[in-house]
Amino acid sequence: MTTAQTQELDVQPTPLALLLLGREADPKSERGVECPGDLPSPSDPDLVERARAAKEKLGNKVFVLGHHYQRDEVIQFADVTGDSFKLARDAAARPEAEYIVFCGVHFMAESADILTSDDQKVVLPDLAAGCSMADMATAEQVAECWDVLTEAGIAEQVVPVSYMNSSADIKAFTGRHGGTICTSSNAERALEWAFQQGEPSTTKVLFLPDQHLGRNTAVRDMGMTLEDCVVYNPHKPNGGLTAEQLRDAKMILWRGHCSVHGRFSLDSVNDVRERIPGVNVLVHPECKHEVVAAADYVGSTEYIIKALEAAPAGSKWAIGTELNLVRRLANRFAPEGKEIVFLDKTVCFCSTMNRIDLPHLVWTLESLAEGNLVNRIEVDKETEAFAKLALERMLALP
Ligand code: SF4
Repeated sequence: MTTAQTQELDVQPTPLALLLLGREADPKSERGVECPGDLPSPSDPDLVERARAAKEKLGNKVFVLGHHYQRDEVIQFADVTGDSFKLARDAAARPEAEYIVFCGVHFMAESADILTSDDQKVVLPDLAAGCSMADMATAEQVAECWDVLTEAGIAEQVVPVSYMNSSADIKAFTGRHGGTICTSSNAERALEWAFQQGEPSTTKVLFLPDQHLGRNTAVRDMGMTLEDCVVYNPHKPNGGLTAEQLRDAKMILWRGHCSVHGRFSLDSVNDVRERIPGVNVLVHPECKHEVVAAADYVGSTEYIIKALEAAPAGSKWAIGTELNLVRRLANRFAPEGKEIVFLDKTVCFCSTMNRIDLPHLVWTLESLAEGNLVNRIEVDKETEAFAKLALERMLALP
């Protein structure tokens, strides 16, 4: 990729690409390391039967969670599907399940471990299934940012609000500094709560790690201006901001983004409107601000599903979210006469979500059925306590 292309996509150069190809482990990544398993061949014709047999053998001891962005071949074995927070809560509500197999990415498995009991063991079928957005905010970088805010004399006025899509370390930082977690469904309520934690005219929010969700919620839903927001770039000294810029801002947005939702552009919206007259454009709030501003509807994954369920027959929809989900929804609603297309012309799955495939799931279930606990995700007690504090503040949001 050329430098120009890199800038255009707003991609931060990291060793991620190598990791995606399964060639290296990145010790700085929240995703952990490569899967150590001896995987069955993807061409094994008995994979479906093997997964079914292992799951049956485990019975109530196992509970399989399937995130909406997972492949169909994996979703068919999920006991429940949903977004990451719903899945973590579903797992906590099944205390009899000793093994929680999380078909999703690393930060989701961490959240499930935080919210489930000590007796429940959370397993991620491929340890290299991470999230590029979560990786964009490391504990060291965020601690450094807090020092910058302290030096600018504003740390005491700042309330951190962290998106669910962040590592356990970042959630713990948030809990330690009086902040809350949010999801894409409750980001507005979380921000309102945060601004009520101090003097309204001087309180600021440090929003981690997705700049787009933070900006879209502040500007689109809460009436702030783009000028109220500054972007803290962890790769630049002092975040690339002066003390004055930090003091003047209401929203300090971490420079992170989702590599899937960040791909959609204003061109994608204009193009689909031209191709499909009368189309409704519905996008996730992790998309860039100009995409959200040009869309007809904006909402979380659950919102998208509900909007399509309620849509009338004959309606046309272009959806700006992960492709596995869009494809599944298109197939589900086609018999009802609803036309659903992916917003971008280029195919784009979340490559790390896609790492969880049937061979990894079979290997995981068979290992557990044989009594071998593999790929356990365990958050240390101190991190867990502070992360839980931040999650509990979210649960208590009005
Ligand atoms: S879709 Fe985006 S936010 Fe979700 S796991 Fe993939 S990279 Fe992370």
